[in-house]
Amino acid sequence: CRIKSRRSGINTNLKSRSKPMSRLQPVRGTADLLPDSMAKHRLVIDAARAASARYGFQEMATPIFEFSEVFSRPLGESSDIVTKENYSFADRGGEILTLRPENTAGVVRAMISGGLTQSLPLKYFYAGPMFRYERPQKGRMRQFHQVGIEYLGPNDALADAEIIACGARFLASLGVLDDCELHLNSLGDSNSRMAYRAALIAYLETFADQLSDDSKTRLAVNPLRILDSKDAGDCAILQDAPRLQDYLNDVSKAHFADLTAALDGAGVAWVFDPLLVRGLDYYCHTAFEFVTTSLGAQGTVLGGGRYDGLAEMLGGPKVAGVGWAAGVERLAMLVETASVNNPRVAILTADDGARQAAFRLAEQLRDAGIDIDLPTSGAMGKKLKKADKAGIRTAVIMGSDELAKNTVQLRNLSDGRQQELPLHPDDCSGLAAAIAKSLLAP
Ligand code: ATP
Ligand code: MG
Repeated sequence: CRIKSRRSGINTNLKSRSKPMSRLQPVRGTADLLPDSMAKHRLVIDAARAASARYGFQEMATPIFEFSEVFSRPLGESSDIVTKENYSFADRGGEILTLRPENTAGVVRAMISGGLTQSLPLKYFYAGPMFRYERPQKGRMRQFHQVGIEYLGPNDALADAEIIACGARFLASLGVLDDCELHLNSLGDSNSRMAYRAALIAYLETFADQLSDDSKTRLAVNPLRILDSKDAGDCAILQDAPRLQDYLNDVSKAHFADLTAALDGAGVAWVFDPLLVRGLDYYCHTAFEFVTTSLGAQGTVLGGGRYDGLAEMLGGPKVAGVGWAAGVERLAMLVETASVNNPRVAILTADDGARQAAFRLAEQLRDAGIDIDLPTSGAMGKKLKKADKAGIRTAVIMGSDELAKNTVQLRNLSDGRQQELPLHPDDCSGLAAAIAKSLLAP
């Protein structure tokens, strides 16, 4: 009986393999980046890379998974990212690992484990996928991408100003800064926050039974995060709550004044947002977000702040840090067009006799720096139509007749004009020059 059931198990397996897969779609909350979306995606990443290079940030990357502790320690066991949103798993060796929900903890972990605290300050730029088990909706995915920068070392407010200015420059280069508002708040240093925390708890405890379930839990573990609540009932209660800025000590006030003076001096517009606390535990002093009204509820395109306590929380020395991350998908939705990088030159064969020669010429022209498309099948008429549709401007047409004469036809697809040119088997420079000239023609 056991053998039978095992056998039937195997059979079912084989059967299901030969059938089409019933779940042949991307996992909920993930998406394929086909060339059109990839082009916008790439445009956003390139703009961030260029803007951050302007400030001396250098690109680096950390692994997409880390020991779970790297995130659970600094993010706090009670944070949304750790309690509800994490993708954690035990690997075959029994290590508990987590797909990174954000990259700041990974970058700081890399600084500590690489012994880089000897070479401060460090300025890093990164781009890559992040993973959060959230309810998917427009602008909110389970695998999404971020670009970000981290400035490790200085606790000077000018470092905060510099990364914010860099964020603004990045958004401006994408043409979206005018649609964004920069929200800015100060969370103060740990003394200020402790004083405020006590006052906030005292106030909220009088409304404890009216708070949302999430906020009830947060009241015990991290009351500051209640300020971030999107629940309407919570928001009403928060209207009269004590204000963080009333609890800032002189050091905290001076840091904020220094930052805002630098932003004002450089013409970076901002608005004060007393309820902005950011989702994460390790922020102090500066918290900021660039918010757009063009994306509905998911309007935050770039957010960040100062995290002077993070390195210590991870078990390293005390190293100050400030940084931001921006959502690539959200920004890509704001980018109107991005051109897909298609070749503008194709080699089209008129008959099979020219296949090998066409392949060889394509390689020679690529060596000469020209992007070449080489369709492998189809009648000439169809190939010309397809090439035209794909944005090809110039076609090199090769057939057995031309090969016999050592020539090719160079055809301008915009006006249909065609000229016969010599083909030298070992030297395509003349042809390359003619192609370059034809691409320049209006
Ligand atoms: P939100 O309040 O929208 O959930 P967050 O505070 O969780 O944002 P951060 O952790 O600061 O966001 O991440 C920085 C940026 O990454 C966000 O401003 C947003 O543009 C983007 N982002 C965050 N989560 C997602 C997601 N699930 N899908 C797509 N983009 C996201
Ligand atoms: Mg979130």
